[in-house]
Amino acid sequence: MTPDLPRIACFDLDNTLIDRDAAFATWAEWWAQSVGLGADAVSWLLDRDEGGFRPRADLFGGAKEQFGLRASVEALEAAYDREHPLFTWAEPEVLDGLRALRTAGWRVVVVTNGGIVQQGIKLEHTGIGAVVDFGCISEAVGVRKPDPVIFKIAADRVGATLEGGWMVGDHPAYDIAGGIAAGLRTIRVGDHHPEAATADRVPTHHFQSVLSAFEVILAG
Ligand SMILES: [Mg+2]
Repeated sequence: MTPDLPRIACFDLDNTLIDRDAAFATWAEWWAQSVGLGADAVSWLLDRDEGGFRPRADLFGGAKEQFGLRASVEALEAAYDREHPLFTWAEPEVLDGLRALRTAGWRVVVVTNGGIVQQGIKLEHTGIGAVVDFGCISEAVGVRKPDPVIFKIAADRVGATLEGGWMVGDHPAYDIAGGIAAGLRTIRVGDHHPEAATADRVPTHHFQSVLSAFEVILAG
């Protein structure tokens, strides 16, 4: 037991704290226009995005072929990593919820699978990075959800214990299974990836909005 350490509240970023899919759709419209493509290209991208889980090299390789783009796949991918995070935003109520948890004594951490560049820009651009104790990006720490080690790294980094902590996220296989493996209580947000919601990945709570998660955690 480590009763003296503060407890930790972990949050996934994409489609948990921010509406990643909405941001992607807005980026897609901007990007299509910027390269001289129309609504068909936007639909094409939205159909193949898979909530961001389709490898970007695959997505842009396909787009290059489909639309005869001149830029290399690597260049398209690098531009995407820098540009699409600028289309993300956080609702004021989400920033308030994160602040309220910290004020109440929780150590608040974002635990996100992804690249340093794009996730780092998202944290900065949305203002989320400024109101949490640590943004734990898988590429930076060398381990991904659902590996429970990533939660241990996050807890150590902010001087917290995992005991009595929470993991909040939208993905049953990464966020909920990962949180359970780390010994955390879990809250699933939304209905993304229903195919992954198996019997061994049942969260402590399931809400449609992350705002309900703040209430439950604050209530103790
Ligand atoms: Mg997510």
